[in-house]
Amino acid sequence: MHVFKFGGASVRDAAGIRNVGRIISQTIADGAELLVVVSAMGKTTNALEEVVVSHMAGRADEAQLRWQNVVIAHELIVAEFELSEALLAPVRETFATVATQLTTPAMQGYDEVYDQIVSMGEIISTQLLAAYLTHLGLPVQWTDARQLIRTDDTFREGRVDWTTTETQIQSLMATKPGLVLTQGFIGGTPTGGTTTLGREGSDYSAAIFAYCTQAQDVTIWKDVPGVLNADPRYFDETVLLPSLTYQDATELAYYGATVIHPKTIKPLQNKGIPLYVRSFVQPDQPGTMVGGPPVPNPTPSFIFKVNQLLISLHPTDFSFIAEDNLSLIFGLFAEAGVKINLMQNTALNFSVVVDSRPERIPDLLERLREHFRVTYNEALELITIRHYDQSTIDRVLVGKTMLLEQKSRITVQLVVRDEGGN
Ligand code: ADP
Ligand code: ASP
Ligand code: MG
Repeated sequence: MHVFKFGGASVRDAAGIRNVGRIISQTIADGAELLVVVSAMGKTTNALEEVVVSHMAGRADEAQLRWQNVVIAHELIVAEFELSEALLAPVRETFATVATQLTTPAMQGYDEVYDQIVSMGEIISTQLLAAYLTHLGLPVQWTDARQLIRTDDTFREGRVDWTTTETQIQSLMATKPGLVLTQGFIGGTPTGGTTTLGREGSDYSAAIFAYCTQAQDVTIWKDVPGVLNADPRYFDETVLLPSLTYQDATELAYYGATVIHPKTIKPLQNKGIPLYVRSFVQPDQPGTMVGGPPVPNPTPSFIFKVNQLLISLHPTDFSFIAEDNLSLIFGLFAEAGVKINLMQNTALNFSVVVDSRPERIPDLLERLREHFRVTYNEALELITIRHYDQSTIDRVLVGKTMLLEQKSRITVQLVVRDEGGN
């Protein structure tokens, strides 16, 4: 069996849905069994986050208005197809259910309500796509991922219970051969609540399904030709990387190459399942294969993370940065839920680079100040170059001032300030 994942960009309008329909039809015409994982359409998840904000603030009219905008965006797409009312019944029911839910104030906490509402983006996109594929005459079986991917109740960041998930997915697949369509990004708790797996988590969902079904491979269909050596939104001269090891892909994703969600690789690596990253615009092109052997002379790849904060900690009593200080520091970062992107220490100084997150950092700084003198620099960039060479370093440093550099054999990381000159 193959697993396909289509992200928000691939199904953002009627033309996109038709294109996805073509890719799926061609694949199953060859007799392949296929499990298709789909995200919310376009920017629906962002729009639903706004609905949650209004709803939780008790601004019922605003929540309803924002929700109706989401409904209208989908109805405009529906209007471009000739789908029967019977086929559209599930999606219309979802529209009505959420509208009703929004009329009563939320009883649960923010994150729990967030998951109930934001998950609807994926429910709607798959209901709509199922209607379209059925209309095309394809034997599609719409399946509810909330009953397949079991998580704990860490809302917005559900942690997968692999044993239960594997059992649930395997028993489903035994009864549903052929073409299965399900949602990315969402799961369910033991008590029937809905969870989400973290923003951009649909790639990860595809990997979970592949792991649990022992799929032959996974293909994530993107708006780029595959994994490139840099994000084409910020660089003109990028090159396609035809083959990557699991390790390279993990490192690139971990440091912020958003084309693959960082959690995607582990389940696939664990079962030796290859991942293909291909273009839904040019579906005949091979794209990138992840899971191959190392290639000779790999192309340098670079990743920019903006909005970085460099925090430097200095012991107040001139003591060394040693094990006792370090365990205190790591404890405080873990408690604050702040991930360290890079760290470096000298005898009397410990520097860390983190994402600038206004909801978490001020509290963390306050806690750190109880033990250390704290200085920091804001609005920095973290540049990671894998398989670096000097000319790539020189290229990325144009117009930047470097504050910190860390090199290993394969990776260099540079913390820089953009001087605004280019
Ligand atoms: P999805 O539609 O599946 O959510 P994403 O938008 O999350 O897709 O991922 C595709 C985007 O990832 C591309 O449009 C591109 O801007 C970005 N990207 C970042 N780094 C890279 C890279 N190294 N190679 C290709 N694309 C990249
Ligand atoms: N729809 C979700 C998001 O936008 C999940 C995904 O697209 O991967 O974060
Ligand atoms: Mg995405």
